[in-house]
Amino acid sequence: MLQNQLANTPTDKLNGVGPALRDKLAKLNINSAQDLIFHFPLRYQDRSRVTPIGASMLGQEIVLEGEVTRCDITFGKRRSLMVRLQDDTGVINLRFFHFSAAQKASYENGSRLRVFGEIRRGPQGYEMVHPECEVGHVGQPLQPLRPTLTPVYPTTEGLHQASWRKLCRQALNLLDKTDVLDLLPTSRQVPNITLNAAVRYLHEAPFDADVQALRDGVHPAQQRLALEELTAHQISMLQRKLQYKQQPGAPMGDHGGLGDQLLASLPFALTGAQQRVLQDIERDLARHQPMHRLIQGDVGSGKTIVAALSALYAIANGYQVALMAPTEILAEQHLAAFSDWLEPLGIQIGWLTGSSRAKQRREVLAGLADNTIQLLIGTHALFQDGVDFAQLGLVIIDEQHRFGVHQRLALREKGKDIQPHQLIMTATPIPRTLAMSSYADLDVSIIDELPAGRIPINTVLVDNRRRDQVIERVANACAEGKQAYWVCTLIEESEVLQCQAAEDCASELQEQLPNTRIGLVHGRMKPDEKSMVMDAFKRGEIDLLIATTVIEVGVNVPNASLMIIENPERLGLAQLHQLRGRVGRGSEASHCVLMYQDPLSQNGKHRLKIMRETNNGFVIAEEDLKLRGPGEVMGTRQTGVAQFRVADLMRDGHLFEEARCLAEQVISQQPAAAHALVERWLAGADRYADA
Ligand code: ADP
Ligand code: MG
Repeated sequence: MLQNQLANTPTDKLNGVGPALRDKLAKLNINSAQDLIFHFPLRYQDRSRVTPIGASMLGQEIVLEGEVTRCDITFGKRRSLMVRLQDDTGVINLRFFHFSAAQKASYENGSRLRVFGEIRRGPQGYEMVHPECEVGHVGQPLQPLRPTLTPVYPTTEGLHQASWRKLCRQALNLLDKTDVLDLLPTSRQVPNITLNAAVRYLHEAPFDADVQALRDGVHPAQQRLALEELTAHQISMLQRKLQYKQQPGAPMGDHGGLGDQLLASLPFALTGAQQRVLQDIERDLARHQPMHRLIQGDVGSGKTIVAALSALYAIANGYQVALMAPTEILAEQHLAAFSDWLEPLGIQIGWLTGSSRAKQRREVLAGLADNTIQLLIGTHALFQDGVDFAQLGLVIIDEQHRFGVHQRLALREKGKDIQPHQLIMTATPIPRTLAMSSYADLDVSIIDELPAGRIPINTVLVDNRRRDQVIERVANACAEGKQAYWVCTLIEESEVLQCQAAEDCASELQEQLPNTRIGLVHGRMKPDEKSMVMDAFKRGEIDLLIATTVIEVGVNVPNASLMIIENPERLGLAQLHQLRGRVGRGSEASHCVLMYQDPLSQNGKHRLKIMRETNNGFVIAEEDLKLRGPGEVMGTRQTGVAQFRVADLMRDGHLFEEARCLAEQVISQQPAAAHALVERWLAGADRYADA
């Protein structure tokens, strides 16, 4: 353990910290002087100079100084104290809603006042509401101005900025006597500033600091800390990975010819990319440590067959496989594909979802327990309590980003004395920085090639005032025997409204297209109702499927070659890409009509233009990240976007590679430093990495 005086100084050793404040700080994971030092300001105020009253501008936070020329209580809407402050350049009103008699008395005519606050517009020109005030008394000059910028700390209710400043200043005083340990290897490239200097700079930025750089987070002091923070995150993820790898796994040698049988039965040969990824998987599965691999592949790149071939290794070696999908529609589709592929090989497949009936559930559980079910397909119902496998050897999770990390972890607990191998598949290409921060504990393989012969989807943008033309186009396509999707979107919050809109749309279209066979699926239908409609669509008994975004993931109906998306401007790019990926799966040329609501915002235009111009999911994902930020792209916090204090996923992308190298170096060469870094940046926090 590295000795570190700062880390060993509890907060209640500081002046003014009693049990109540100590506990309040502890709730923010601040327990030591070091934790305070690593509690960085959100922004700064400049109280280092006085602005002439006449030069103040709306919205500025500034220091003014002047003489009081009036001080009255006024009775407008609310009783308030109005103080008039004047200097050589102008006058301004100060307004107080809460004030004491003593306060009023101290603002007597002729007294000098220094105030700090925000300039707002009042009924009689500019004013400050409840400024912080310092009164100069006769013969007693005002305090000298502070030579540093004033930090504003992230805080919580009942903890004032003044308290934070006092606390952090005390912690910094300790820093004079003992350095905060610099734990990063000296080999690092950027930026050339010591840790001590960096933390001090952020708490006590000089008045002439480059405020813009600080605001943008690109100051060398911030970059130094961002690099350290990212390194700490990488260390924690890599340690998690190492830990996982140290557990006993189930080595799976050969697939016993099952794979060859399946390949021989397919109407296509694997793409080079599929073969490469399968080799990665084969290598992992043969090891005595559990696999933990993420397969990224654009929509339609053929992840399912890769999953099926992987399952055969487990099954041939006597292990069970669990395949989990995020929706029932998708799970059913997997059931259909896997049944087609694997039942001819004599493999027993089980099916379990939240809506499985009690009797069926009992049968499935019995089959799992006596090892007669070799492959279980379903939704998140798979990892509920009571689902016990005799010999679970491989867990396959489709469309990873819709499952929380916790769910991912829960399923691997289902292994008995071994850790099942894990194969995670996602169709949402994850931008590299996001992948490095959220999936550093996984090995990654990419299927970067679509099966040959796919014709790129032609995407067009149409103003929804031309809805009639679009409807005609749908009618013509259906008359030619093609099938189409019509996707209704509505802001996510209300599923009820979303489904209502889809129902309305269906009846409207049915009226206009009496000869078209129209079906409807939405999220509030019962699972068996949904699957009836989907099956009919698959069999070609429905020409036009009206749907909400429930069809977004994985649905595979190759004969569908036209998709209309209403109000695409409401959806994220990655989601649009997923939706659009439902067409372009067959040998026909496919079309996607983005029917937007005019007028589009500048941003909206830009986004839809990207959809029109590229079919490449990775390009779209990068753009989505730029336009919407990591939280939106990944879904909620739970889905694994790391929360950083200083670092920023977008801004600091260039630091990730180095952080990764440093992390590997620290883990192998200075294990104690690795531990201390994780403690410093991540201790106690309920961050993803601790899931
Ligand atoms: P995704 O990666 O989006 O899950 P799927 O696994 O659903 O894609 O595959 C899309 C379609 O492509 C399926 O109909 C599948 O059978 C077919 N497919 C998969 N691999 C190939 C291949 N190598 N050549 C031709 N078609 C393929
Ligand atoms: Mg899929």
